Amino acid sequence: MGADSLDGASVWVDLTTANTLRLPCQAARYIAPTTLSSLQAALYSARIHQWPITLLGGGSNVLLPPTLHGMALRPALRHWWLERSGDDVTAYVGAGVSWHALVMALATHGLWGVENLALIPGDCGAAPVQNIGAYGVELSDVLKAVQVAELATGEMYWLNADACQFGYRDSIFKRALAGKVVITQLALRLSATPRPVLGYGDLAARVSESPTPLSVAQAVCAIRQEKLPDPAVLANAGSFFKNPLVSNEHTHRLLKEYPDMPYFPQPNNQTKLAAGWLIDQCGLKGQRLGAFGVHERQALVLVHFGGGDRPGLLSFADTIAQTVFDRFGVLLELEPRVI
Ligand SMILES: Cc1cc2nc3c(=O)[nH]c(=O)nc-3n(C[C@H](O)[C@H](O)[C@H](O)COP(=O)(O)OP(=O)(O)OC[C@H]3O[C@@H](n4cnc5c(N)ncnc54)[C@H](O)[C@@H]3O)c2cc1C
Repeated sequence: MGADSLDGASVWVDLTTANTLRLPCQAARYIAPTTLSSLQAALYSARIHQWPITLLGGGSNVLLPPTLHGMALRPALRHWWLERSGDDVTAYVGAGVSWHALVMALATHGLWGVENLALIPGDCGAAPVQNIGAYGVELSDVLKAVQVAELATGEMYWLNADACQFGYRDSIFKRALAGKVVITQLALRLSATPRPVLGYGDLAARVSESPTPLSVAQAVCAIRQEKLPDPAVLANAGSFFKNPLVSNEHTHRLLKEYPDMPYFPQPNNQTKLAAGWLIDQCGLKGQRLGAFGVHERQALVLVHFGGGDRPGLLSFADTIAQTVFDRFGVLLELEPRVI
């Protein structure tokens, strides 16, 4: 894999190891352009051949089908540079840079902003799609702008953060611009002035009184490694369900029966519940059905033991969601994108 031009694009490429759930997938064409001009050329070829385009990054948040027709495109633009203005720093980052590698490089440079987002798998180009978040920080907290290229025309332009319409695990790239643009570059706002965010979970207890971006990033990595299965060892896509938003009335009804239930008040008379807690309460943690299971330490993570496919995984997820609905009256929504 990793062809830079369509002349070199493989025909029927196996993407089974290119998605962290290791769902079997054969793509008719796969291309990973490393320059903007080769990306434009790929878009042009897709246009003239009328190939539908499937955008991919590291495959850590997708449920791939057994067969992908058209062209699978992974922008492999791996440049990044910093622009300083006093203590404020803007990082310009190509879509193909590994997100975790970028976080560690910025933290090593002593720059604050993304250290809480360490060890999230995937490429920088996919990070705005679901507005990645962890340990009290979301990408939208530091994102200045996103550069995109229109799939239909190849035209490139920048969208500022407001135009990206970020929400919880949500953005315009999942809605109005889904399948219309490819993200080519991000501009991130960082700072050399300390601004640690340590209020989430036991993060504060894991770092010294004068933390650095690097010590925070390392603490986040250590906590995540204790809690989450490594996809290189056990196939998974991280959180399989979003934490559901329900009305405050619904939450109060549930709290009467389950006073220990964790809940997080939100604007607009809504409360966010912990999907992992709901699944755990249904006794599903550690349960296995054929090729798939609920992870034994983290009920929000579904794992693939091998030999399964997407229909099998979706049917397992349906069973879990139905069990949670029957008990709590709460609908669970999938977090990964069904391609
Ligand atoms: C172990 C594990 C832990 C995780 N922890 C977290 C976490 O803490 N927080 C969190 O938010 N997420 C988490 N995730 C989910 C995932 O890492 C993120 O969503 C990540 O941003 C996906 O990146 P990717 O490159 O793998 O994208 P992919 O899975 O390849 O693609 C995801 C979506 O983005 C689209 N896309 C990809 N690249 C582009 C592009 N250049 N332009 C436009 N669209 C594009 C795809 O079409 C697809 O719809 C975790 C996943 C795993 C496996």
